[in-house]
Amino acid sequence: MTDNNNQTRAPINWTASIMFILTTLVVAIGVPWYGFAHGYNSAAVISMIVLVYFTGTAITAGYHRLWSHNSYEAHPLLRLWFALWGAAALQNTILDWCSGHRVHHRHCDDLEKDPYSAKRGFWFSHMGWMIRDYPSSRVDFSNVKNLQKDPIVMWQYKYYGQIALGMNFGVPIALGLVFGDVWGMLLLAGFMRLFITHHVTFFINSLAHMWGTQPYTDENTARDNHFLAFFTHGEGYHNFHHIFQNDYRNGIKWYHWDPTKWIIKGASLVGLASNLRTVPDFKIRRAMVKMQFKRAQAKLAKAEGTEKWSELLEKEYDRFHQMLNEWTDQHVEKLGETRKQLQEKWEKAAVRQRYRELEEQLHQQSDRLKEIMADYRASLAS
Ligand SMILES: [Zn+2]
Ligand SMILES: [Zn+2]
Repeated sequence: MTDNNNQTRAPINWTASIMFILTTLVVAIGVPWYGFAHGYNSAAVISMIVLVYFTGTAITAGYHRLWSHNSYEAHPLLRLWFALWGAAALQNTILDWCSGHRVHHRHCDDLEKDPYSAKRGFWFSHMGWMIRDYPSSRVDFSNVKNLQKDPIVMWQYKYYGQIALGMNFGVPIALGLVFGDVWGMLLLAGFMRLFITHHVTFFINSLAHMWGTQPYTDENTARDNHFLAFFTHGEGYHNFHHIFQNDYRNGIKWYHWDPTKWIIKGASLVGLASNLRTVPDFKIRRAMVKMQFKRAQAKLAKAEGTEKWSELLEKEYDRFHQMLNEWTDQHVEKLGETRKQLQEKWEKAAVRQRYRELEEQLHQQSDRLKEIMADYRASLAS
């Protein structure tokens, strides 16, 4: 870490600090006090919950999966919705957010370059990176040139202050006037909602890089965590996301809690989203089997008298590589191409058939590895 990047030297970002202190104080003191003194009507409670989802998913489906990763294309109406509710989240403009996030992916965990490197600790990656002006947080927009062509992104950038104020105060006040309790609505649907949305998003940078499993890669700190996914609108499948960042899904199984994915899919069904990008299953399975090998090898390397098992593993590893050599990424790309070029029907059918076979082989490979390691454990016990 350079001196400039040192926590004690970086100057305090007063705008962010005052905002965090103010919202925390209101939530810690104002919200309970008003509840005891006056009580909240159900409209305020329901509005808070609904707006938590509007604000949170504008960040996850809009700022994150649409604008940072181009994982799909969205109709201008949907982009406007995300720009408005994204501003309500008070996490800076689309341009600033996405520029920082693209740096996070490019230099994940780097102490100097990752703006919210989890290697600098929980507090730093959660909030610390925002309350001081660290050099690692400085963005120059050179990595968001494509977004600068989006008129909605640029409109939000230009009027961010006004939009953010309108969404955070104007909307709750208007709702309060309709439902007859302006202060109650302002406290719950305004401050409490903002506080929840803030920390939910911040957990993705802190906890989702510390707590959970690494089924796809251990080359960065990102983790998969079902529990976190529930609170982060699906972003808790962060290990998958860091290796396959352009996939519109983070939770890939049907039972994975990923409302952001469902919103995008739903939007595509009514014509508000298109070109949803997904990674071929083959690549996902390949990453998982690679990790299985890596773990098994590490485990055997640590123990003694494991020659027999290491040999078995090595044989399997050769088989795995042979299989992969037969089926390179180009073949997978070709599958995509042939999908478009229907005249090559026979080729497409053949490629598809081979692809299915290969997926099946990968499944079997994974099962064999599990068996070998189970046998190994049993041999230790006996
Ligand atoms: Zn991350
Ligand atoms: Zn991302």
